[in-house]
Amino acid sequence: MDPVDSLPRVPLAHLPTPLVHVPRLSARLGCELWIKRDDVTGGAESGNKLRKLELLMAEALAEGCDTVLTTGGVQSNHARATALVCARLGLSCVLFLRVDDPFAPLPFSGNVLLDALAGATIRPITREQYRSRDELMAAAARTMRAEGRRPYVIPEGGSNGLGALGYVRAMRELRAQLDGGLAGERRPFDVIVHACGSGGTAAGVALGAARYGVAHAVRPMAVCDDEAYFTRRIEAQMAEARARCPGLPTAPPFVVDAHGKGPAYGVTTAEQRAFLVDVARESGVVLDPVYTGKALYGLALAIRRGDVAVGARVLFLHTGGLPGLLAAADTFTEEAR
Ligand SMILES: *Cc1c(COP(=O)(O)O)cnc(C)c1O
Repeated sequence: MDPVDSLPRVPLAHLPTPLVHVPRLSARLGCELWIKRDDVTGGAESGNKLRKLELLMAEALAEGCDTVLTTGGVQSNHARATALVCARLGLSCVLFLRVDDPFAPLPFSGNVLLDALAGATIRPITREQYRSRDELMAAAARTMRAEGRRPYVIPEGGSNGLGALGYVRAMRELRAQLDGGLAGERRPFDVIVHACGSGGTAAGVALGAARYGVAHAVRPMAVCDDEAYFTRRIEAQMAEARARCPGLPTAPPFVVDAHGKGPAYGVTTAEQRAFLVDVARESGVVLDPVYTGKALYGLALAIRRGDVAVGARVLFLHTGGLPGLLAAADTFTEEAR
């Protein structure tokens, strides 16, 4: 049996996600572009985090947890998915969300609105506190244990070795789709491109792409920080994943690309916003400004530079993020009207 099958899993995502060819976008970018629609793993809880949460929540339930603690930016897709999954499973959820001013009211839109609907407790934290988020959550968990509660802590993005294994499973799902002729031919993709924010998706995709032979290369597009930072983080998570699931490849190829990240996490240039608007109008593919918009923009730049060959067979993993787009409506006045 495949070792990833012996991992306990709570089925949360609608799988397999569709694999679709996008001819109009292919023509625009100058490659043979396919999209794996992990933006539709579910309803309001949708996105890449659901594949990680299937494994993380199984561990939480096995440990008898009653409260899940996690963290992210104020409009974190991961925090929102966790909050909704906790509501579904009857667990309490505490979200440590990074904000500029912890005393200002939270923006009641996008992911924050969904967090509130899910009944999650939101603890706003400063950028400074966010730097020691792991210690902060560990301390909160200690306090809860002393009160007789059973906390389970999930790191930023659901990114650790266990969460990453959700994307090893995704690559096996992709193998079956290639074998079934759903990508035109059985031939692997030249490269898989996706947004990278905490490294778990990249770690799982790189391990799984090599394990199942679905792509020759993996190009995580950093949306913050830099190449060296993510290379380290991804390698650490791959090591953790291998420890949990022996038999995974030891040095799967991947190249972090930070050319598309723009000014800062969650901040876009006018050119990035115009690109996102053009893509939606030309192809009906809706991207978000924080992750997927920057990742596909990064692919366009990589093709222009020649780092991805013109005509290459490319799989873009659409990781979701729609609530973040809706929460950023006011940044789009110029481009979208
Ligand atoms: C979290 C997220 C990512 C990044 O995935 P990581 O595993 O955290 O690197 C990409 N896209 C969207 C929409 C996300 O919410």
